[in-house]
Amino acid sequence: MENFYRSIGGLGSTALTLDRPGIEVENVRLLERFYHWQNKNLTESSLPPAGTLYLTPTHLIFVNPAEKRETWVLLSHIGTVERSSILPAGCPLVIRCKTFLSLVFIISKDRDCHEVYSALLRIAQPSTFEELYCFSYNPGEGNFERSAGWNTFDIQFEYQRIGVPNRHWTLTKMNQNYDICDSYPQYLYVPTCASQKVLLGSAGFRSRGRLPVLSYLHPSTNAAICRCSQPLSGFSARCEEDEQMLACILRATPSSRTVWIIDTRPRLNAMANRATGKGYETEQNYVGMKVQFFSIENIHVMRSALNKLVEVSDLKAGSDDLNVPSHSIFLDGLQATGWLKHIRAILDASVFVAEKIVEGDSVVVHCSDGWDRTSQTCALACLLLDPYYRTIHGFMALIEKDWLSFGHKFSERAGHLRPFYTGGGNSPAVTPSSAVSMVMDTTREQSPVFTQFLDCVWQLLVQKPYAFQFNERFLLVLHDHLYSCQFGTLIGNNEKERKELRLEERTYSLWGFMKRHLTEYINPLYDAERCRNMDILVPDIAPQQLRLWVMMYNRFEEGIHPREPLLSALTILKDHSSSLEDHLQLLEKRISLLKEAYKQHALMSAAGPVANGLSHSPHGSFSSAGSASDLSRAAVITDSVALDWKAVRDVSFCICSTPFSQFSMKYHCWRCGDVVCRRCTEMHAPLEGLYSNKPVPVCQLCYDRLRINGSKKAFLPSVKS
Ligand SMILES: [Zn+2]
Ligand SMILES: [Zn+2]
Repeated sequence: MENFYRSIGGLGSTALTLDRPGIEVENVRLLERFYHWQNKNLTESSLPPAGTLYLTPTHLIFVNPAEKRETWVLLSHIGTVERSSILPAGCPLVIRCKTFLSLVFIISKDRDCHEVYSALLRIAQPSTFEELYCFSYNPGEGNFERSAGWNTFDIQFEYQRIGVPNRHWTLTKMNQNYDICDSYPQYLYVPTCASQKVLLGSAGFRSRGRLPVLSYLHPSTNAAICRCSQPLSGFSARCEEDEQMLACILRATPSSRTVWIIDTRPRLNAMANRATGKGYETEQNYVGMKVQFFSIENIHVMRSALNKLVEVSDLKAGSDDLNVPSHSIFLDGLQATGWLKHIRAILDASVFVAEKIVEGDSVVVHCSDGWDRTSQTCALACLLLDPYYRTIHGFMALIEKDWLSFGHKFSERAGHLRPFYTGGGNSPAVTPSSAVSMVMDTTREQSPVFTQFLDCVWQLLVQKPYAFQFNERFLLVLHDHLYSCQFGTLIGNNEKERKELRLEERTYSLWGFMKRHLTEYINPLYDAERCRNMDILVPDIAPQQLRLWVMMYNRFEEGIHPREPLLSALTILKDHSSSLEDHLQLLEKRISLLKEAYKQHALMSAAGPVANGLSHSPHGSFSSAGSASDLSRAAVITDSVALDWKAVRDVSFCICSTPFSQFSMKYHCWRCGDVVCRRCTEMHAPLEGLYSNKPVPVCQLCYDRLRINGSKKAFLPSVKS
């Protein structure tokens, strides 16, 4: 796990601003496996060598000089900090990250442990937006521009793409100043036949003013996915405008026999809401509508399920006497979390929505406030229906639409800000040294809603790998940055809040960052052609088809992941073969030119001894076939492309001496075939031996050598931003 954060996104050294005082503690030991530390007989001699723990304004860094290892943890990733009772060897400090990394430090002095503990509680979760990492993050010179990625998505283009405005759907500017609904975007698409009175009336009858609006329009059936919040119906209240609003949606879909109202909540929850003046639609009042409940549980149930899942994962290595729990203990534990049941419920609702749309019926999706379960369901249904959303660019557009534009409480759900101390500078009371503290985990609003969305996408990716342009790494990087607060993209709860924070001017965009590393996210099994002829992607949600996402929840457990995942091996193979094909093309071209030159030479020799065969190729000229300069050029050509690429399997260091962790991508230099890190292939250069003449990845060594040899061809950095 060393250097992990460096390797996933430059979260490392550039962030170190030592102008602010940090904390430095010596004689600290990092325990790799969880079970060591609970052993009461633990003595100093049985511990790993001691190192130094640093706390900077942005990172916790542990340096172990004996093993030449550095462990970097971004402070925004820290979920809980816990002190345990003192052992003979020192004071244990347990840190759990939102990215499912758990670390146990043994700090020899109790006073030091206390200092680190209270500092972490103070700074890991800031109390104001201004303190978030994105406002101080600077990728450093020569990296990407601040504007990169911010103008990638204009949500209006997305509506144009799905064909609105049109005869049935129109743009309304009534929320231009966020007066009707402050968690909705400024511009909304609604049925053309809905009058201003109907829109206002419906907004007034919906929780937080979130009236039914268009989220997606199917290109061939013209059926619509609309989204909203629950009606304020209580036990018997009615609203004529709201009933008309849904009737307008039915009228805007000529093919629709009925409009399905998808209440994603379990029926019991929806009924319980009636007691508080909210609830669900009564079918008798809404003519032509059908209400269908699904059983996606609320944020509190989901949070508790994830906490249990983390416990079960710890269980794998957490018992005192055994290294691993028995099979049945683990499976029973997993069953008790209910996690896969919840994933299934979300997929179930999404598949239902997608199927109704293909059949030509419009749907209106809601939950309580319409920003958690509704976002999950609408986004997943779109993903099943439209192959565009399964491309890298399209998936970003989908997040922009159903999560950012329509509002999702990222600040609370991801716990970006400390909930109970907002505005104030007070730190939480520090508990006595022997007590266990879980201060940050007790927030009522935190919930893995977006994590579940990514999990559902992963289930689809595993079942239908050909349908996705992106790979698992893409989803994991997104998840890391949901919590990192490094970029402004996923900060804030709605469009209005983001504008007020002026994120575009003051922070960098996650999309800009990810677009620089696109090659890492390409799924080699993607088959765009095959997707084009498909109406809908239907996953199998039978219980035996849903799996635990080990790469997400157990990502940091060493030794359980394949050393060389199949798909990255496939990516390397594809790159290598395209390099060889390019080379082959050049060689074939040369052979035919040489043959031609030889023929001419033979003809001219027959005609007279003074004639000389000259020929020109698009890749430089050569003199008469077989001359000395021609032979040396042939050598240059064959030497400039690596025929063999070094196997990545046992390479643990790059030539620049950066260690490869289990999460690092490994690249090849196309010239020498060596295995290098990402930073070492930033430079691209055209090679003499390639027909295409396009700049390809080369290592720093080869790059310098090419430059010394004075090639006049252009040298380009890998990314144009
Ligand atoms: Zn090289
Ligand atoms: Zn390197």
